[in-house]
Amino acid sequence: MSVKIGIPRALLYYEYYPMWKTFFQELGLEVVLSDPTTKTILNDGVKHCVDEACLPVKLFHGHVINLKNRADYIFIPKLTSIARGEYICPKFCGLPEMVGFSIKDLPPVIDVEINLRNPKSVLYKSFEQIGRYFTQDTRLIKAAFNKAMEAQKYYLKSIKQGKLPSELLENQKFVSPVKADLRIALIGHVYNLYDKYISMDILSKLKKQGIEVITPEQLEDAKIEEQANRMNKKMFWSFGKRLLGATLCLKDRKDIDGIIFIMSFGCGVDAFISDLCERRIRRETGIPFFLLTIDEHSGEAGVNTRIEAFLDMIRWRRKNEESNISAYG
Ligand code: SF4
Repeated sequence: MSVKIGIPRALLYYEYYPMWKTFFQELGLEVVLSDPTTKTILNDGVKHCVDEACLPVKLFHGHVINLKNRADYIFIPKLTSIARGEYICPKFCGLPEMVGFSIKDLPPVIDVEINLRNPKSVLYKSFEQIGRYFTQDTRLIKAAFNKAMEAQKYYLKSIKQGKLPSELLENQKFVSPVKADLRIALIGHVYNLYDKYISMDILSKLKKQGIEVITPEQLEDAKIEEQANRMNKKMFWSFGKRLLGATLCLKDRKDIDGIIFIMSFGCGVDAFISDLCERRIRRETGIPFFLLTIDEHSGEAGVNTRIEAFLDMIRWRRKNEESNISAYG
């Protein structure tokens, strides 16, 4: 019987699952993914996590509980940095400890550090450490790593060609508008945008209304980088930089009818970045901007009403050419 490795369907699953899955499968392991988010998974996460954490981290705890009795190991890497000279939110590097402290009787947790901040650091070294939990055959580990890189490259390429992570990972089908009447940019972290339950399926809601949706993942990385680097100070949080750079990329485009920025309550990075984005958009463009804050108490009906009001306002402004109608949600 093969060894089962559990991967929580949360946080950076939406970034790296193809790479992680391929690596473990190539080593001969059975990959067990937690179930799609439900109310029970979220409630379990909220119950077991510290109150101060943001929604995605609470939800991650729920997904770990969902896997607890189904896997021989659980994969929770200690992610410190995913790019040269940058860090990611500190919650990621403390995640294995946080989970281990809050959830008892877990199977062994694979908590190898991934830290690419230093120019000399090499991703393979972390993968070799992970692989050594299961085999001492470094040739096998290296081959699995190479396959994992290929899978990740293919995944990222498919996204740049227009596929959404939820289509590729979750097989979610969207109704594409034949002729979109609005083009809306949806800005937020991958784990907020593509988790159908947490985002209250905002992607489908917009697409069903005949709206074309653009997300940061579909924009060119070089342009995002270029825009973010124009700030007076270097933005050293990788995900904050992506959201900021993506929003600034939209600034000069004439084909964007509105921006919806989704932020998690309790997220220090989002509190800062969303404010910066809103100020720049307000000051330099007339693009309507709507900030949607989500937490475990967010009610779908209330969110629907706010989105509808925002879209009505955009259509009203366009139909009547009335720029005196507030452009902010
Ligand atoms: S960036 Fe914000 S939402 Fe994401 S894990 Fe950190 S605190 Fe939570």
